Amino acid sequence: MADLYVDGKWREAVAGGRRDIRCPADGTLVRTVSEGTRADTEAAIAAARAAFDTGPWPRTPERERGALLLRTADLIERDAEEFARTESLDTGKRLVESAYDIADVVACFRYFGGIAGTNAGRVVDTGRDDAISRVVYEPVGVCALITPWNYPLLQAAWKVAPALVAGNTLVLKPSEFTPSTAVLLLRALEAAGLPAGVANLVPGAGAEAGAPLAEHPGVDMVSFTGGLETGKRVMAAAAATVKKVALELGGKNPNVVFADADVEAAVDFALTAVFLHSGQVCSAGARLIVEDALHDSFVDEVVRRARNIRLGGPFDPAADTGPLISAGHRAKVEAYVAAGLAQGAVLRCGGARPDDPALADGFYYLPTVLDACRQDMSVVREESFGPVLTVERFSGEDDAVRIANDTAYGLAGAVWTQDAGRAQRVARRLRHGTVWINDYHPYVPQAEWGGFGHSGVGRELGPTGLDEYREPKHIWQNIQPRAQHWFRG
Ligand code: NDP
Repeated sequence: MADLYVDGKWREAVAGGRRDIRCPADGTLVRTVSEGTRADTEAAIAAARAAFDTGPWPRTPERERGALLLRTADLIERDAEEFARTESLDTGKRLVESAYDIADVVACFRYFGGIAGTNAGRVVDTGRDDAISRVVYEPVGVCALITPWNYPLLQAAWKVAPALVAGNTLVLKPSEFTPSTAVLLLRALEAAGLPAGVANLVPGAGAEAGAPLAEHPGVDMVSFTGGLETGKRVMAAAAATVKKVALELGGKNPNVVFADADVEAAVDFALTAVFLHSGQVCSAGARLIVEDALHDSFVDEVVRRARNIRLGGPFDPAADTGPLISAGHRAKVEAYVAAGLAQGAVLRCGGARPDDPALADGFYYLPTVLDACRQDMSVVREESFGPVLTVERFSGEDDAVRIANDTAYGLAGAVWTQDAGRAQRVARRLRHGTVWINDYHPYVPQAEWGGFGHSGVGRELGPTGLDEYREPKHIWQNIQPRAQHWFRG
C-alpha cells in the first residue's frame, strides 16, 4: 500500500523507495513503508502551497475547522486499538503505554477542536472616536512539521491539530523509524473530510525528506521536535528564508528530592521519571538530585527497585518497559555510561545489556543508576535519552536550585518536599518550562509545554500552542477620514 499522501492522493515515492520497519523489541519485520526523497517533499510543499494560496481551508470558518478535528478525534478513538498496536510495533513500547499515548492524541484533537472559534481577536481602544482598531488572527501559511520516534503520533498531534485549526496547510515528516501511525492519522483526516492538499505526508529519512522542508522558500514555518543538534541545523536552514521556527529539543531534567519528602512516593516517581519508555522521553527525570541527609537510604531504595524492572516486548504482560529504538541509539547510551564511569561516576546497577537470551534480538539496555555524579560529566550535561539515572547531592535550598538550573536545557523538573512554602519557592526559581511539585510527568493539553534555553523555541499545547500557528494582524479603520495636511504643499 502506498504511504505518501500528497494533494489528497495516496502514492508511492517518486524514486520508488521503500523501507523495512522492524520492531526494536525483536527485529521482526513489521511492514514496509514508502520512503520519500527530496522530489516527494517538494511535491508535498507545492500541494500545501496551492491549498493555502487558492484552496478553501484558510477561509473556512474556524468552528468548521474545529469540527473536523473533533470528527478526527472520534475516528482515532474508534480505531484506538489499531493505532496503539501500530505504535507499539514501530517503537517497541508496551501496548498499555501506546494506549495512553493514543488517548492523549484524542484529547489533543478534542482540545484544539474545542477551542476553535473562541478567540476571534480583540478590539483595541485607540483613544480616538474616529477610528476602529482590532487585532485578528491569520494562519501562518504552509507549515512543515518534523517529528521524532519516541512519541510518534502524540508529537505529530501536538503540531497537526493546532496547525489545522488555525487554518494552515502542512507537510508532515515523521521519523524514518516510526512512520506508521502518521499514515493512519492522515487516513483519519481524509475520512473526516479534510480538503485535498491541506495535510500532506512524506515518510522518509531526515537528510532526504526532512532537510528540504527547512530550506524551501515555499514553507512559511517549520515546527520541529527532536535532538538538539538536528534542531540547530533546522533553525540555521530556516534562517535563509526567515521562516517562523518552533523547536522542542528535549532536556536534562532535574528531579529534586528534599529530606522532608514523602519518601515512598518520591522513590516511586524517581523510577517513573527516568525509566518510563526506557528513558526515551524528552522530559525524563534523568538527574536525581537528593538532599545530603536522605541521599544514602533513598538511592539504595531506588537501586533496589530499579533492579526489579522487567524488560520485554510490547505484548509481554510481565514487562515494565521496553527496548531502545535502534542499535545506534543503544550504542550512544552505552557511550554516555562509559564516559560517566571514566569520569568517576559509581555504577550502582545496570550499565549493561540484559543477559536474558529471550531479549537478545532487541535493543535492550538495563535500567542504570550512576551515583556520585558531578555537573561536569557529559552523562549529566547531555541528553543520553536512555534508561540512565545520574545522582547528585545537595545541601539546602539554594544549592538545590543552583544544581537543578545548571544545565543548558530547561524543559522540565520536579521538586519533592512536604514544606508547601519551599515547594512554591523552588518551583518559581527553577528555569524549566514545566515544574511538578510532588509528582512527575503529568501534562494536559490545556497547559503549555516547552522549554527554556536549549530546550527550544516556542511552546506547544495550550492557547500559546495555537498562537504559534497564527499571525496576529492589526486592522485599523478610520471611520471619518479627513485630510490632515501634514505636508503643506
Ligand atoms: P533527530 O533530531 O535526528 O530526529 C528528529 C526528526 O528530525 C526526525 O524526523 C528526523 O528524521 C528528522 N531529521 C533528521 N535530520 C534532519 C534534517 N537535517 N532536516 C530536517 N529533519 C531532519 O533525532 P534522532 O533520532 O537522531 O535522535 C537524536 C537525539 O535526539 C536522541 O538521542 C535524543 O537525545 C534526542 N531526541 C529528542 C527528542 C525530543 O522529544 N525532544 C525526541 C527524539 C530524540 P529521521 O528520523 O528520518 O532521521
